[in-house]
Amino acid sequence: MKDNFGREISYLRVSVTQRCNLNCVYCGKSDCTKKETELSPAVIEKLVKAFAHNGINKVRITGGEPLVRNDICEIISRVSAVEGIKTVALTTNGVYLAKYAKRLKESGLDSVNISLDSTDGSTYRHLTGADVLEKVFKGIDEAEKAGLSPLKINAVLMKGVNSDEAEELVNLAKSRKIDVRFIELMPFSENGENASLIVTGNEILEKFPFLTPVGSENGPAEYYTAEGFTGRVGLINPITQKFCSSCNRIRLLSDGKIKPCLGYDTAYDIMQFIDDEAELIEKIKEIIMRKPAGHGFENKTPSHGLNRTGG
Ligand code: SAM
Repeated sequence: MKDNFGREISYLRVSVTQRCNLNCVYCGKSDCTKKETELSPAVIEKLVKAFAHNGINKVRITGGEPLVRNDICEIISRVSAVEGIKTVALTTNGVYLAKYAKRLKESGLDSVNISLDSTDGSTYRHLTGADVLEKVFKGIDEAEKAGLSPLKINAVLMKGVNSDEAEELVNLAKSRKIDVRFIELMPFSENGENASLIVTGNEILEKFPFLTPVGSENGPAEYYTAEGFTGRVGLINPITQKFCSSCNRIRLLSDGKIKPCLGYDTAYDIMQFIDDEAELIEKIKEIIMRKPAGHGFENKTPSHGLNRTGG
């Protein structure tokens, strides 16, 4: 359906947990024990059905870290079976991906985005608090083998922290059929609020002048390639090239609240309607109509990290 600003809202991001097995410095402190707010696979399915009635055709499962849920395959299989849902994708830090890749594919998962901000063991440990880089690479291999495609890596660079990792990350797109996407640091958590750390999309293009544009897809990333590259490099620039006018997203949080925009704390509780499908569909429609025109990061910062809101 179209929102108040004429944007076709077709993409639902579902945060299935606030828990995470990593503690990334730009994301917000995670608590890997708090389970009480998580929705069951059956409730997630009901909500996705109601979203699909309102024109949602793509769902991304995220968190927190979605693979800390041991019922993740059931979630994927229920969501992918909902009428009208054409694509189910997952965003993960990749630590448990080797274990799950094949089963996720069999459950109906189409593609996976893996967050990886460094290919260097000690920088990775500094950024995430965990010594698990090898597991992530194994996860990437298994996802490729399982046919989860397209395979994308998302990286957030910060000046003086991991900005010197850009070349190694770009090289992954050269040697493998992987899209490596750089996302500008957004103002979540203490580090995110430090604008001097942001590495902009333009700075990346200056560093790699051989990258040539190949356009965008149905999303915020602008893609680039170069001679001899198997994959592509993508730039997602929410800070320097705000793309809110073409935003097609709405978010379901792990406690069942609906969040129309990442940039605001506003989230609507609709759980009292969970057993009344008609009412649920109507409430979701009303909430989509309340989606703001833009994220407004330039005026204020949201009070929660992406681990709480779902990245
Ligand atoms: N645990 C999963 C993962 O690591 O991919 C999913 C959740 S995580 C919050 C989703 C994405 O949000 C990650 O790619 C992460 O890099 C990104 N992210 C978190 N905080 C961010 C920030 N301040 N600015 C830009 N991206 C951020």
